[in-house]
Amino acid sequence: MTAGYCAWHQGMADDVALIVVHEQGSGAGGGAYACLPCARPLVDQWSTSADAVEAIAAPEKRAAAAAALEARHA
Ligand SMILES: [Zn+2]
Repeated sequence: MTAGYCAWHQGMADDVALIVVHEQGSGAGGGAYACLPCARPLVDQWSTSADAVEAIAAPEKRAAAAAALEARHA
């Protein structure tokens, strides 16, 4: 789990993924960190989302594992 600054909601988050954005006409693509709630909708939005989907898969798995663990202890 990587706590860090989410560039989308502009605040700290418990777990962030590096999302690389390749925008046409703006030179080289840039990277920014997004937390899971912010990253999830991006998966559906971007046409060039292969890298982003891969980046989001890691925290998505950790969130699912954490939720499963929590359910066991409930
Ligand atoms: Zn966020």
